[in-house]
Amino acid sequence: MLRRRGPVRPVLGTAVLLALVACGPAPADPTLPESPALPTTPTTTPRTDSGPDTEAETEAEAEVEVEVEALGIDLTAHSTSDPDSPWVVVNPDRAFDPLDHEPDDLVTVQGHQVRKMVAGDLRTLLDAAREDGVHVTLTSAFRSYEAQHRAHAGAIARNGRVVGEQISARPGHSEHQSGLAVDFGSSTRPGCNLARLCFDETVEAVWLAEHASRHGFILRYAPGQESVTGYLSEGWHFRWVGRELATWMQDEGLTTLEDVFGLPPAGSADD
Ligand SMILES: [Zn+2]
Repeated sequence: MLRRRGPVRPVLGTAVLLALVACGPAPADPTLPESPALPTTPTTTPRTDSGPDTEAETEAEAEVEVEVEALGIDLTAHSTSDPDSPWVVVNPDRAFDPLDHEPDDLVTVQGHQVRKMVAGDLRTLLDAAREDGVHVTLTSAFRSYEAQHRAHAGAIARNGRVVGEQISARPGHSEHQSGLAVDFGSSTRPGCNLARLCFDETVEAVWLAEHASRHGFILRYAPGQESVTGYLSEGWHFRWVGRELATWMQDEGLTTLEDVFGLPPAGSADD
């Protein structure tokens, strides 16, 4: 089980570091996304003096800048509340504003819609899997507010409200509405699609768990993180956040966007 960590302190910029360094669901529930790289944060600070005093100082500064690049990800680079942001965070307590938000740059990949910025990475991921002999499929991607309303109502009808709320996002709260989330499927065991535990054991799920981050996708509802994400784990639901953040999260052992951005755990707000 992955450990939970506290909020991560954003890396606000090289200047700060330089100073410090001298620093789901039931089987029938479809509810609950290689990339153009996100803009990178500048990792150099403009010099205001006339240059280094010594060669040793130049080398020391070069080492510091390498270290900053290794550490550095600017977690303030994109909004977590703007519905069009690549890092928008929605969960049971965080809704889109407006509630019926719909992206205007959807494109189709293997019969499913995602935002244009996701499509390149998604195609590359699917191609990379195929080259490894793993045939990952897509079972769902963008869903409109209205489609999510129907999915959520169906989940409640089949499972009751308590379980239904844990496996299906309310309309206006689903990552699928962002166009940044996809549900992957298994070609070897399609009967395991959208089926908890069963899907996790497929060769496709194992491949995704290891390789998805390098293509910009994170497993959004990880096992053991239910109290943070607000949903039961879903081995098929991946969220595109871009390669930089996805690989950084994997390297750091961080599994939830709530922890990464220092947001309250889902379900902590009064309902
Ligand atoms: Zn999903």
